[in-house]
Amino acid sequence: MAFIEVKNKKGTADKTPPSGYSSWLDFWKEKTERKATICEVRGCKGKPTIGGHVIKSGEGNKEYILPMCYSCNNKPEDKV
Ligand SMILES: [Zn+2]
Repeated sequence: MAFIEVKNKKGTADKTPPSGYSSWLDFWKEKTERKATICEVRGCKGKPTIGGHVIKSGEGNKEYILPMCYSCNNKPEDKV
């Protein structure tokens, strides 16, 4: 069950993952030691295909990586 209220961070599409990681999703898996089974956007049950850059509501500009489905990652910042 996805429960985190987040917003897509703008301007991150061309960011490349740190060396040693094949993708941002891979990076997230290594850091959290979890498996990405569902899109982490609140209310979404999509299949996570990428690690999206997001900011959580109320936490300013602190950036997180979260497993997201393709459709959530392509929503405008304020529509997630
Ligand atoms: Zn989603």
